[in-house]
Amino acid sequence: MSNKLFMEQQYLSYLPPEMQQLRWQFHPLDGKLLLFERDNGLNVLLEGEETQALHRLAPRTLLIAVTNVCNLSCAFCYRDLHYSNDWDYASLLEFCQQAHEWGVLEVAFGGGEPMLFPQWEQFIYELYDTTQLAINFTTNGMLLTSEFLDNITGKYGQIRVSLYNTNHPEKTIQLLVKHHARFGVNWLITPQEFPTIKQHFMELYSIGVRDFLLIGYKGNAFPNMHFQADDYLTFSQFLNETYEQYPDVTLKLDVCWGKSLNDVPRLFIDDDCHAGDGFLSITSNKAIKPCSFHQWTIPFKNLEDVKTYWQHNRQKKAPANIGGCARLPNRGINQQGGTDATIHVATI
Ligand code: SF4
Repeated sequence: MSNKLFMEQQYLSYLPPEMQQLRWQFHPLDGKLLLFERDNGLNVLLEGEETQALHRLAPRTLLIAVTNVCNLSCAFCYRDLHYSNDWDYASLLEFCQQAHEWGVLEVAFGGGEPMLFPQWEQFIYELYDTTQLAINFTTNGMLLTSEFLDNITGKYGQIRVSLYNTNHPEKTIQLLVKHHARFGVNWLITPQEFPTIKQHFMELYSIGVRDFLLIGYKGNAFPNMHFQADDYLTFSQFLNETYEQYPDVTLKLDVCWGKSLNDVPRLFIDDDCHAGDGFLSITSNKAIKPCSFHQWTIPFKNLEDVKTYWQHNRQKKAPANIGGCARLPNRGINQQGGTDATIHVATI
């Protein structure tokens, strides 16, 4: 038995016997050990004297824009339309396989619209069969079909559906529910949502949504979409009431809320969003960003370049120069509702 395998067996002995047989992956963190099982999404965090000497060896997740092409043209879309589409089937597969060997646990594909990536269904099969990566993707849902959902059953972690008023999400949700798909919705929460937020929640709940990722606006273009002090209170109240009244619902908060929702109970309390360390964003034109909203864009040729970048920069915790970033004081939002992200970046 190799040393690594021996160590892993030792750590498994801390789990209840019925959990020891699962196909765990071991992901060292700084002073902790994360165990992850991709097929049921289970995570176990071990922390104690036995894990003190461990160090993180890889990000947990890569967020990869597989294409910059989309079948919609939403006015609020944040992607840079000048980015080229440099991934093809073979190069993306090889990159992901190498990421798995490095120690990455999950890939979250987006874009653009990943359903437009050539041979997307085949790609999911092959990546699932040749790695232990959990495969997730975010879609506007308009190109999902019954056949596709049947064919990828058991091969993916989660499908995230973006809620827009341009993509008829109700139809998509009904299709996903009918196929018992593992899915959740990504919902942009702005002050303009508040008059109808409960009603909208109830509509989504009534058609089968049980997993909600609630996202804050990031950007400098639409100041009125940012929260002011009262808005945080209103949103916290909605979250607390929903949490109490709907125990079968999973409420997830985007990391960029930071500490701005202090009176909302959290499963994980953290001081940082972990952009650039716990996760990296990879663009459709093969560049690294600490997160999708970040101004740093570092071109790379292969996974070795990504590793080198990560090893040298993972501790930097640099904020994104954009209103709504939790690494900026007051999330980069000023009292007038505008953003002064640039000033704060300069002062950090
Ligand atoms: S760096 Fe800022 S914008 Fe990026 S994920 Fe972290 S909090 Fe969000």
